[in-house]
Amino acid sequence: MTCKPTAVPPVEEIDIPALREKYRQEREKRIRPEGQKQYQALSGELPEVSSEDPHTPRQAREPVSKDIDVVVLGGGWSGVLAGVHLRKAGIDDICIVDSAGDFGGVWYWNRYPGVQCDNDAYCYLPLLEEMGFLPSKKFSDGAEIYQYMRSIGDRFKLYDGALFHTLINGMHWDEDLQRWQVSTDRGDKLRARFVIMANGLLNMPKFPAVPGIGDFKGKMFHTSRWDYDYTGGSQTEPVLDKLSDKKVAIIGTGATAIQAIPHLGRHAQHLYVLQRTPSSVDKRDNPPTDPDWAQSLEPGWQAARQDNFHRAAMEGALKPGEEDLICDFWTEITRNMMAEMEAEGWPQLSMEEFMQRREEMDYRVMERARKRICELVEDPDTAEALLPWYRFPCKRPLSNNDYYPTFNRDNVTLVDVSATQGVEAMTEKGFVANGQEYEIDCMIFASGFEVTSDLDRRWGIDQVEGRDGKSIYQHWGNGYRTLHGMMSHGFPNQFYMGLYQGGLNATIPEIFNRQGQHIAYIIQQGLAQGASSIEPSEEAQDEWVKHIRETAIDISELQSECTPSYFNNEGEKEKDEDGNEKYRWYLGESYGPGWNAFQALLQEWRDSGELPGMIIKK
Ligand code: NDP
Repeated sequence: MTCKPTAVPPVEEIDIPALREKYRQEREKRIRPEGQKQYQALSGELPEVSSEDPHTPRQAREPVSKDIDVVVLGGGWSGVLAGVHLRKAGIDDICIVDSAGDFGGVWYWNRYPGVQCDNDAYCYLPLLEEMGFLPSKKFSDGAEIYQYMRSIGDRFKLYDGALFHTLINGMHWDEDLQRWQVSTDRGDKLRARFVIMANGLLNMPKFPAVPGIGDFKGKMFHTSRWDYDYTGGSQTEPVLDKLSDKKVAIIGTGATAIQAIPHLGRHAQHLYVLQRTPSSVDKRDNPPTDPDWAQSLEPGWQAARQDNFHRAAMEGALKPGEEDLICDFWTEITRNMMAEMEAEGWPQLSMEEFMQRREEMDYRVMERARKRICELVEDPDTAEALLPWYRFPCKRPLSNNDYYPTFNRDNVTLVDVSATQGVEAMTEKGFVANGQEYEIDCMIFASGFEVTSDLDRRWGIDQVEGRDGKSIYQHWGNGYRTLHGMMSHGFPNQFYMGLYQGGLNATIPEIFNRQGQHIAYIIQQGLAQGASSIEPSEEAQDEWVKHIRETAIDISELQSECTPSYFNNEGEKEKDEDGNEKYRWYLGESYGPGWNAFQALLQEWRDSGELPGMIIKK
């Protein structure tokens, strides 16, 4: 079956200047001068939402003290994939440490009702061919992903030596020992030759600093610490029967909230949805995996599919005649553009013309999304309040068939808090919005994660000190300074996985997969050469920083037009070392020439066999 373009209104029917002005007004309404400071770090005021693990009991154990080749901080996708590649490289003396009770990262913690991946699972889940596994449907349930990660842990023996329910709270490079001294909240002392920082992107729950939040006497929890004892039901059977006599409020209408809200609406006595900025939520076709299709897959199919997704969702163009294999809301703009260009016989467009047509298609697609909401939501005022007024990439595109119909229920009230730029206050009994107090039993925070805040807050480790006691937070204080986004001068034998200064792919676990491969190669080389330390020279590091900044694609114009969110650091600009004002981007500083160019560059670097730019001490 070939993938069809969507029916969007023709450009002539859309008043783009008027829409642009409307988008601007909606943005201005929401900008808060305090930017990031509107959020608060976890503190004693927010008790059960922080360190408690609702999923696995914490077992007592003796502290561990040992020398080890590699400590991996984090057992989410990046840590697991680092482990896979270390094992493949023949490095066995490894220890993955995570504050959770198992592998899984976000898929361990996030077990809220309805949790499901928003990306095509055939792309998203790494190593499918190698593992001989196919997800059961296009958008996997969270439970399926979690189990799959555990099976990777089993297959690659990553459970051996792993320390769960353990939080690394400090590490420093010991020049005499030529090792990292790693300490944990369980009293462990790990002396590691190498450390891999696989901290994760969505590891730290974020809370709005609502005045009076600590006064509330009812129940509160964050969606990433869902309390089924309180709500009833379970992740796999989300029948939240204990809420039938409860008034519940949920803060947030992002990717998480829109999945949980239909379940809350179905079961709570009353549900208040506190919305500041509406999401754009499309229909979700989620068919089970077709066995005939599965049978037809040829070796190499997953890489080809990821490549197709990357080009359609991130690079913005498919090859003439190439089918959109993903065929969902992520690829809609490109799919529609390609269909129109094909109908016109593939006209030669300048980059400027191409971008203009893309922008027009963006307005047309968003107009289609808004029309759909008006068709689905019965009350016109509620429908109006749910309309998203911004460009398509300003927020994560979402899909859910039950979200909008939930607002047709008598027991569900949408509370628009955009006029006050968020929930005004909390009291002993509930919350205040638009001057009115609402009494509730339970407040659920679907308020997201620390994504663009300062690194120490995101990592949550007080002390990460390289040579001569230099803090990584200080070293990167004016922007990341790395070689290839994975190592930094003055921090020997330390590796970073995540979105710092490297290539971007539309499939985030694929980024970690390739980083894991590259890092395992360097460690293997280091061990084979009997190196006591490896680090990039300052020149190699600075050259990379210069190169990545010179080749960067400037998206600040688009960011400046978006409603505030982690996409544009809440609309807050900062000055870089050269005095240029920029928005921090949640995807880090990405390599302008693209993913394939970045992979080719790393391949060439490895093929040289000489670890160019590295200082190797024996
Ligand atoms: P988000 O950061 O996307 O959403 C947070 C929500 O809280 C927003 O609606 C925000 O409003 C709202 N909010 C924050 N402060 C206030 C306030 N003071 N008053 C009222 N509302 C407030 O978090 P999510 O957990 O939804 O998603 C985070 C990320 O997790 C996603 O972008 C995605 O990357 C990932 N995710 C992925 C899924 C997947 O399927 N792969 C599923 C779920 C999440 P505003 O927009 O106005 O700031």
